[in-house]
Amino acid sequence: MKPDFDVTIEPIPAFDDNYLWLLVRGSQAAVVDPGDAAPVLQRLQQRNLSLQAILVTHHHGDHVGGVASLSRATGARVHGPGAEAIPARDVALAGGSRIDVLGVAFDVLDVPGHTLGHIAYHAPALRALFCGDTLFAAGCGRLFEGTAAQMTASLAKLASLPADTRVYCAHEYTLSNLRFALAVEPDSEALRRRQQACAALRRRGEPTLPSTIAEELATNPFLRCSEPDVRRAAEARAGGPLPTAESVFTVIRQWKNVF
Ligand code: ZN
Ligand code: FE
Repeated sequence: MKPDFDVTIEPIPAFDDNYLWLLVRGSQAAVVDPGDAAPVLQRLQQRNLSLQAILVTHHHGDHVGGVASLSRATGARVHGPGAEAIPARDVALAGGSRIDVLGVAFDVLDVPGHTLGHIAYHAPALRALFCGDTLFAAGCGRLFEGTAAQMTASLAKLASLPADTRVYCAHEYTLSNLRFALAVEPDSEALRRRQQACAALRRRGEPTLPSTIAEELATNPFLRCSEPDVRRAAEARAGGPLPTAESVFTVIRQWKNVF
């Protein structure tokens, strides 16, 4: 295993609430989901970095908008889901693929739900997960293309990664997700503590990310559909029994959409 201390992972904020994650090793870099090329090019220039790789999780504009011009400007190889239309893609990926990025192995996971071809990148040696719009801090992506069954399975796959895996999501949605999570589990001490910690970070203008799989297991309602408190809240909302984790997920996902 490569030591992880010589790879740094830093956010490049873009649009209202996107993070384009930049991985840096020495003078080389890779970027995940560059929805905009300009702030990435600016950071590369400032730091005198050469961009080797672009990793794309899914086809939405705020994740691919800068891909073509970035790859043209830098020659970086574009990796993305084979099942979706990704601009300038060089390497088509699917679950089970393994790629080398800056000398580090990244495993590709299929995580359909938000979109049908959505993939996530897991680097075990970095204890890092880049999950696009599938898993958010205290939340999950909307079901634009997939089903609740697909999303529940995708989230379960991510939840089964090592607990100390750092979760690099693509949006700063944490505080609004935590408000909803507290509506689902109002008695959760862990949620209250997390809300205070994240609110303090935002007051200082800092990202609330990465989180960890352990934190998500403890506080993310969409990973907690089998917990009695979450099921009870969903049943109260639905006005009837919800026998499966998937039916609980369906109710809280719809509840969140109108929260
Ligand atoms: Zn998206
Ligand atoms: Fe997005």
